[in-house]
Amino acid sequence: MSRRHETSDPAQTEALAAELAAGLAAGDVVLLVGELGTGKTTFVRGACRALGIDGIVTSPTFTIGQRYQASVPVSHLDLYRVVDLGNEDPDLLADYIGPDRIAFVEWPESAVAALAGLSRVAARVVIEHAGGDRRVVTIEAE
Ligand code: ADP
Ligand code: MG
Repeated sequence: MSRRHETSDPAQTEALAAELAAGLAAGDVVLLVGELGTGKTTFVRGACRALGIDGIVTSPTFTIGQRYQASVPVSHLDLYRVVDLGNEDPDLLADYIGPDRIAFVEWPESAVAALAGLSRVAARVVIEHAGGDRRVVTIEAE
């Protein structure tokens, strides 16, 4: 199933993310695809809020991911610049992905096979610029 939405500010993108988050369960992985500045991190922030995470949600900079505590723990990975994670260190992902947690992955291209092997890809979110603050957000869910 694929649903196409348009948003015109960050709050609308966060609200879409909250809707998706409501249907997620431990073991689910959500992939976020889109150019720099389209709103992938904004989307993850909206989802994290809905999942009960109160603190700051920003893209991890010095590691590939962050882990947040919540009733279901959440991971947020950003694989920008990672060329081929599977070859570099297959165990690296296992710290962040698994049956006991929900994970959001920005720039998943280098690790799609490894991610699918570790957990269930519940949704793929594609965000595109549509002029100014407008974005097209396509949510492909299982
Ligand atoms: P990415 O993680 O894809 O690089 P970010 O979420 O970090 O993108 O940044 C998106 C930027 O675009 C933020 O500054 C955000 O406030 C802004 N923005 C403007 N309009 C929107 C929108 N409709 N949806 C999401 N972000 C938006
Ligand atoms: Mg980002």
